[in-house]
Amino acid sequence: MTTFDGFRLPDELLALSAEVRRFVRDEIIPVEQRIDPDAAELPADDYRRLVAKTKAAGLWCLGAPEEYGGGGLGTFAMCLLLEEMSQHRMGLYNPGCGVFGRNPPPVIWGGTKAQIARYAVPALREGYHTFFAITEPSGGSDPAGAIQSRGERRGDHWVLNGTKMFISHAHEAEWGVVFVRTDRTKGREGISCFVVEKGTPGFTARPIQTIRTVAVPNEVVLEDCTVPAENLLGEEGRGLSLCLDLLTRLRFPYSACNLGVAAAAQMLADAEVELRAARWLIWDGAWKADRGEDARVEASIAKLYSSEVLGRVIDGAVQIHGGYGVAKEFPLERWYREARVRRIGEGPSEVHRMVIARALLR
Ligand SMILES: Cc1cc2nc3c(=O)[nH]c(=O)nc-3n(C[C@H](O)[C@H](O)[C@H](O)COP(=O)(O)OP(=O)(O)OC[C@H]3O[C@@H](n4cnc5c(N)ncnc54)[C@H](O)[C@@H]3O)c2cc1C
Repeated sequence: MTTFDGFRLPDELLALSAEVRRFVRDEIIPVEQRIDPDAAELPADDYRRLVAKTKAAGLWCLGAPEEYGGGGLGTFAMCLLLEEMSQHRMGLYNPGCGVFGRNPPPVIWGGTKAQIARYAVPALREGYHTFFAITEPSGGSDPAGAIQSRGERRGDHWVLNGTKMFISHAHEAEWGVVFVRTDRTKGREGISCFVVEKGTPGFTARPIQTIRTVAVPNEVVLEDCTVPAENLLGEEGRGLSLCLDLLTRLRFPYSACNLGVAAAAQMLADAEVELRAARWLIWDGAWKADRGEDARVEASIAKLYSSEVLGRVIDGAVQIHGGYGVAKEFPLERWYREARVRRIGEGPSEVHRMVIARALLR
């Protein structure tokens, strides 16, 4: 009889995942328990101490390309690990509190060798914060239509002007990428991407307080912000396609964190059924992305479903725990607040429903 014997995870990946789980339980959670429940980061000494351990254990920047000092793991493997890395109080927005490394915005891998060496490699090595600026005051759901910030070439420089909204980490990042219109006549083909360094004259970031405790978003103002021509990332006018291709892949790790926190919140029957469904949707799409196939619809399905499951599971968990569900002594209170943002950030639920419906109607 022919049987299907797929879907067994490689032993090596299971071992790695168990190692990450142990690290979170034994090293990260004990530190979190003695600091402010709303802390955005670990105390600097603890961060340095734990980073030395993850680097020594080969657990640093596992998802980044090997040639630049990362672990070279694919989207699927990272989804498995992030489900573990996110299972602690600040894990939804700061998986592993950053001690497993921070990946720079993936568009940087579309840059030249010189750009990668100058920006990506130090960010990987040092675990810097970086930022990624698409959303504008006129809306984030449809960046192709909403981007009004502009870039104008002047000799060997580009001059950037405009305002970006809700840009995470922009006030503390070493550098980031901004998407601006460089040709008003060309619609989505008229948007280009530039690297902007901290301290560039004409770049300001004003933190905006939200219900999210980590990675405070900012209003970013570009006022005659001048960057050298070599800071153009990818081809002129190709910024949006560069970004959307890579954003698709990012939606799987993002969904894996939704799953991890939902799994940490509760394991009762209905939640368990939804968690398993979410896990399979993430794995299915991540496999497809790793095979190099178009996984845009799967990315939308994974993001939509995992963020909505997260909201339902945490809401149920708060109810079951009564007063303790909303007490800062336990992580549920923070997860409850932060989970709400997951249905808005990285494309709101309505936008993902449109992507899925459009594909069905096509
Ligand atoms: C804490 C936080 C951090 C963030 N970090 C970043 C960041 O680092 N970089 C970045 O670029 N952005 C970031 N964002 C922005 C985020 O991506 C946007 O908030 C999101 O894309 C939605 O855009 P918007 O807020 O402008 O809402 P809008 O686009 O104005 O949408 C408002 C509502 O209308 C709905 N809607 C819009 N169009 C349609 C339609 N055609 N049909 C039906 N409903 C529709 C949306 O689903 C939403 O519910 C962050 C946001 C938050 C809250």
